[in-house]
Amino acid sequence: MAIVWSNQERFLVPYFGLRCHCPCAGCVDEHTGERTLQPKKIRPDVKPTDIHQVGNYAITITWSDGHSTGIYHYDRLFQLCKLFKSLDESEKNE
Ligand SMILES: [Zn+2]
Repeated sequence: MAIVWSNQERFLVPYFGLRCHCPCAGCVDEHTGERTLQPKKIRPDVKPTDIHQVGNYAITITWSDGHSTGIYHYDRLFQLCKLFKSLDESEKNE
């Protein structure tokens, strides 16, 4: 999905990647911060069925596999975006 930030930076983040980086306690060890979620257990065609804004600091995503406990804080989401492709860069390369 395309994410546009208020500083005009734009990114294309694959649903699968976003799902893999779910920050909830079921997917990440609360104490070590280590990811316990196994990417191979996620369907490659996973997609959001619902997205809710939480205050002005985060969003929650309900996934097609029924998972919905992850709260994606904007600063975390921004770091995730950095891992994926900037839309501006991919346009430059065309
Ligand atoms: Zn999770």
